[in-house]
Amino acid sequence: MATSKFMRAIRVSEFGGPSVLKLFNDIPVPTPGPNQLLIRVHACGVNPVETYIRSGAYARKPSLPYTPGSDVSGVVQAVGDNVTAFKAGDRVFTTSTETGGYAEYTKASEDSVHLLPDNLDYKQGAAIGIPYFTAYRALFHRAHAKSGESVLVHGASGGVGVAACQIARAFGMKVLGTAGTPEGLALVMKNGAHQVFNHREKDYIDKIKEATSEKGVDVIIEMLSNVNLSHDLQLVSYGGRVIIVGCRGPIEINPRDTMVKESSIIGVSLFLATKEEKAECAAALFAGMEAGWLKPVVGPQHPLEKASQAHEDIINSPGAAGKMVLLM
Ligand code: NAP
Repeated sequence: MATSKFMRAIRVSEFGGPSVLKLFNDIPVPTPGPNQLLIRVHACGVNPVETYIRSGAYARKPSLPYTPGSDVSGVVQAVGDNVTAFKAGDRVFTTSTETGGYAEYTKASEDSVHLLPDNLDYKQGAAIGIPYFTAYRALFHRAHAKSGESVLVHGASGGVGVAACQIARAFGMKVLGTAGTPEGLALVMKNGAHQVFNHREKDYIDKIKEATSEKGVDVIIEMLSNVNLSHDLQLVSYGGRVIIVGCRGPIEINPRDTMVKESSIIGVSLFLATKEEKAECAAALFAGMEAGWLKPVVGPQHPLEKASQAHEDIINSPGAAGKMVLLM
């Protein structure tokens, strides 16, 4: 396949607000090295972490300038030496890239690339990487959740939340989810939840307590722990696990709450997953794509040149309804 020499891509040359995301038309198309692929990008997921990195406030900082984006989907354009699992023309998605996903082409290492089944489109392909791998890791590697247990997905209407609801339901858990708008609640209900609650209602914690009677929930997958952790400790069962996926600041809790139930607060970092753990996630998720229960819900869509708007919106969202993606 003929590849042009230059491409449109977003570049960040200084850390700062969303306006530091600038579109260029003359970025050289990368060349894949050994064990690498060149992908013609059709869509790229926008993840909250990309806004933290862009702002310069994140622990891991890329060297400048850089192109953000790890979760692309598209078509393999060319393969480097030693690549055996993929060929030009394959439909794929990634869990990380070498040169950034907010671009018309990206270079990715073979072990971060996965085949995209025909029953999912490119926008859905861009919604898999960070959200589904994080949700799987949170449920199984960190919470050790089991079929028959109850799971509260606290913040279920966004990228990771929808993924967690679909996975937990497919693995036989009782799923409770929260969202902040009627649209979000309906979407969560359609994607695996048995019961939904509005986290913008004053008394919703009481409603969850009522719904889970005396016992409480076995596992909480928490998207905004700086707001909810203290309540979560009231909601978990004896031996329950609160899994910290999202956190945007400090919160005061009473550690005694963990003693009376011998409950645990456990952090998740997808970044720390081992090669073997990532391979396990990929195998389980691929089975879900084939069986049809893994169906990413695409929410807001922006063209590449609106990347700064996308960053503005994902942090100041009026209410999530699926995964935000950029289209090339
Ligand atoms: P997203 O698509 O923007 O979704 C954000 C979610 O948070 C929505 O469901 C939103 O619900 C919900 N939310 C808003 N206010 C809430 C509240 N008071 N209580 C509970 N939930 C609330 O983001 P995402 O991609 O799903 O990521 C979620 C969080 O996890 C982010 O903070 C992200 O940085 C983090 N994350 C961490 C890891 C890791 O490895 N630890 C990996 C991926 C993501 P409404 O909009 O309906 O109100």
